[in-house]
Amino acid sequence: MEEDGIIRKSWGNKLHICLIYPHVYRVGMSNLGFQIVYRLFNEHPLVLCERMFLPEPQGKGIKPVSVESKRPARDFHILAFSLSFENDYPRLLEVLSLSGIEIQAKKRSPDDPLIMAGGVAITLNPEPLADFVDLFLIGEGEVNIPPFLEYCLDAYLAGHEKEVLLEEIQKSIPYAYVPSLYEVEYDREGKISAFYPKKAGLPFRVKRAWKENLDEVGCEQVLTVPETEFGSMYLVEVNRGCGRGCRFCAAGFVYRPVRFRSAPVLKVSLERGLDKINRIGLLGTAVSDHPELIHLCSYIIEKGGQLSISSLRLDRITEQMAEALLQGGVKTVAIAPEAGSQRLRDLIHKGIDDRHIWEALKLLLERGMENLRLYFMIGLPSEKEEDVDSLIELVERIGNFKVPSVSGIRRWRKITVSINPFIPKPGTPLQWEPLAAGSYLKLQMGRIKKAFLRLPAVDLRLISFRESYLQALFSLGDRRVGQILAMYQEGHKWSQIFSHIKPHPDFWVHRKKDVTEIFPWDFIDHYVKKEKLVAEYLSSISAQILVDN
Ligand code: SF4
Repeated sequence: MEEDGIIRKSWGNKLHICLIYPHVYRVGMSNLGFQIVYRLFNEHPLVLCERMFLPEPQGKGIKPVSVESKRPARDFHILAFSLSFENDYPRLLEVLSLSGIEIQAKKRSPDDPLIMAGGVAITLNPEPLADFVDLFLIGEGEVNIPPFLEYCLDAYLAGHEKEVLLEEIQKSIPYAYVPSLYEVEYDREGKISAFYPKKAGLPFRVKRAWKENLDEVGCEQVLTVPETEFGSMYLVEVNRGCGRGCRFCAAGFVYRPVRFRSAPVLKVSLERGLDKINRIGLLGTAVSDHPELIHLCSYIIEKGGQLSISSLRLDRITEQMAEALLQGGVKTVAIAPEAGSQRLRDLIHKGIDDRHIWEALKLLLERGMENLRLYFMIGLPSEKEEDVDSLIELVERIGNFKVPSVSGIRRWRKITVSINPFIPKPGTPLQWEPLAAGSYLKLQMGRIKKAFLRLPAVDLRLISFRESYLQALFSLGDRRVGQILAMYQEGHKWSQIFSHIKPHPDFWVHRKKDVTEIFPWDFIDHYVKKEKLVAEYLSSISAQILVDN
């Protein structure tokens, strides 16, 4: 395997951290956040950080070892899990188990490595993993990792016990969360009635770490590996957060405020990238809102490079933008109408209408864009069959859309349509909503599949209901979900577990919550007041009511 950028350090006299992506190598190495944390840990001269992934072939009981020195997890002081997606939670337990490490934090010995976790999923709601992880770091690594390392280095040099270190960290680092130091109480209905620290002097709330000036940190690819999903390009992060405030989206609320790297600093990253590969992947939650995006694209093109952009807001596709994409060698553009009907787009506060869609598609197709990737959700609050009909109709119209060109008629060569069930995300205005019923979602998926058979250019990607259900459970659950994860790790099937666990997982997944309810993640300060979220939620409900009148 050819890796450009691998960091190898001498093993002796250092704090040894194993950074683990609980998935296979190809998936983990495609994650820019994982690569950035690898660099952040290794920047400290007294820290050695190596990477670990789930071994392949999976399911064969192969013990994972680190990429750099081929050592097992037990050889490290700290195992740091990077968790961007909730559906990786069961694999965290699998890595521990394959490594011969007790999964339950309270049963581990003081000699076992310290288990920590961070990442996007953890920042939203770490509670389902509370039984297994010693320490969570909430928010962005550039801010929460340096103080964490200082405490760990002091503690390991002084030979402090793990419990002492964890309590010290909880008292001193505002972005740290040690779940064993907190108590949760439930009422008769099973809802959380109280959440509080077990000892005096511990904070009641944990802050999300965020870096104000992204120009001060290196937000770009660290390792270049041809075999990965983005192996043919150099990834550069353009921004974090988003100012648009779509009501379903964590980037628009939990990762506020929107921050852009400046053009001069980005150009340095682009040049570094173009020295390695001639294709640059511009990543971020609001890439198309960067005030100098056209200028940056032109810069890449002038240097002889090609570009790729993760996703574009429909209302940001101008003639200049379409031209830059084509000149930059982009053949496929990804856009997210999210819903077929205008009522639902307004309900989620998407801020686009049909005019934006058709103007953007015309501009792109006229200039020679070949392929389209569309993202939609089904099961949005108050959705009716006619809303799904609108989605089908919109895709049909896009499939049949054509523009005249010098060589004849031009139409989309391939349209990839990804349709995911709406999963409420913690910290967003729609967090009180449930995942739609399985019977409804399956029925609509069936209707969509049947309708799209008529469209040869459409490649439909549907996420299964089972996968969505688990994602919703791990997104919205509290620490009692830990027993479900533990049983799954013991070898039980999901259906067996769900049939006798209490409360039934539907309690978290399919229940519409009351605005007064205490959420498992309410102790995290995401810097958006709950009153603001409630106000946004109530506005969305007004849009829901419209459909019933
Ligand atoms: S969906 Fe896109 S535009 Fe809307 S808030 Fe999220 S990142 Fe921003």
